[in-house]
Amino acid sequence: MTAREPSHLFYQSRLRRPLVDRAEGVYIWDVDGKRYLDGSSGAMVANIGHSNARVLETMRRQMEKATFAYRLHFENEPAERLAAKTASLMPEGIDRVFFVSGGSEAVESAIKLARQYAVATGQDSRWKVISRMPSYHGSTLGALAVTGYDPLTAPFLPMMREMPKIAAPRAYLDRDNLSPHERGLKYADLLRDKILEEGAETVLAFIMEPVGGASTGALVAPDSYYGRIREICDEFGILLIYDEVMTGAGRTGRFLAAEHWGITPDLIALSKGFAAGYAPLGAMVAHNRLVEPVLDAGGFQHGYTYAGNPLACAAGLAVLEEIEREDLCGNAERMGSALKERLELLMKRFPFIGDVRGKGLLLAFELVSDRETMTPLPAAQNAYLKLVDEAYSRGLIIYSRRTRGGREGDHFMVCPPLIVTREHLDEIVDKLTDSLAALAASLGLPQEG
Ligand code: PMP
Repeated sequence: MTAREPSHLFYQSRLRRPLVDRAEGVYIWDVDGKRYLDGSSGAMVANIGHSNARVLETMRRQMEKATFAYRLHFENEPAERLAAKTASLMPEGIDRVFFVSGGSEAVESAIKLARQYAVATGQDSRWKVISRMPSYHGSTLGALAVTGYDPLTAPFLPMMREMPKIAAPRAYLDRDNLSPHERGLKYADLLRDKILEEGAETVLAFIMEPVGGASTGALVAPDSYYGRIREICDEFGILLIYDEVMTGAGRTGRFLAAEHWGITPDLIALSKGFAAGYAPLGAMVAHNRLVEPVLDAGGFQHGYTYAGNPLACAAGLAVLEEIEREDLCGNAERMGSALKERLELLMKRFPFIGDVRGKGLLLAFELVSDRETMTPLPAAQNAYLKLVDEAYSRGLIIYSRRTRGGREGDHFMVCPPLIVTREHLDEIVDKLTDSLAALAASLGLPQEG
């Protein structure tokens, strides 16, 4: 945290951070010349690293031609090519692409297309979108209604229609005798119970992050969960929306996290790594069988002014080409398993690390006061802020949250750009080790060795 003059600009809080000067690869420099390793890719965005020369050159060439041409007046080639490229990376049939400027817009668009599809096909009674607690799907009121994170939703409840929630599968907390397979089915069956409770004819869709993001700290469900959820949705004619805003574009070691379990959702929300921070861009990708009836019935009553603008789309296309050219999904898988092992080793020295989890380079660890019972640290200790500041002062950026929604806990996302090397991993782990030791000293937490 730095002391700077008050500003006209404001975000969520009074917290101030240094002014950025420049960024390259996995590093960012502030105006005082201090270097930071971007160990969270911003908010899990900068998947291909910063200032990629090929992407910048593509954007420069596009800027010289046209940065904006309104989509209702002109179509543009970058948008066409990016839509085709995106469709080629999706499961079979998920091939209609609707561009937006960010993750919340992608989620809003998926929910609204689902609803219009229901109306267009005579299923007007379906409007409820079931989601999970905790979860994060965005800041706009529609995306917030399916978000399971009380501090964000509470002030707005009178203004929106809150949607039904089921518990996210926090299997790592369970102390029962179920096998992982049984546990996955148990959690998935919460969806079936909720559908029956609400009345299947009123339920439109189920939305989930295939690997949890900031609200759960990279929560991965047991394998059996994913297929069972798909089956339940099919049984009741309910659309399955995968929010891959954070997990997409290679973050978990596959282009889509859905690929790990061979799942074909009906709608997919993408953003963050999709343009990797080079332009505000996202996409909602839908199965063609949903889009055609909506277009036949008079069109999709939804759209954003900046949607499909040529500059953002040129950037997005260059980013996807980079992910392929450099095999960044493969690198995410390799470096992700190496980093996960190194984080697990830290559990030996720091008994207050309760759990390490995640997939590919979507990794997180959770701090606790007792690993056996997974009792969280007291909220008043503010560990989630303190550890981030310790890392910051050492030139390492990580991302943290105090989880709420069913259970509290401090967790930390360690999600560097997918271009990381083993040398970068050494730097991350060294700085993290020193930061954890400093946190332990300041909060009186135990350490070994
Ligand atoms: N969905 C998920 C899973 C996310 O992680 C986020 C952003 N953290 C969003 C939606 C919202 O994206 P944006 O902030 O770009 O609107």
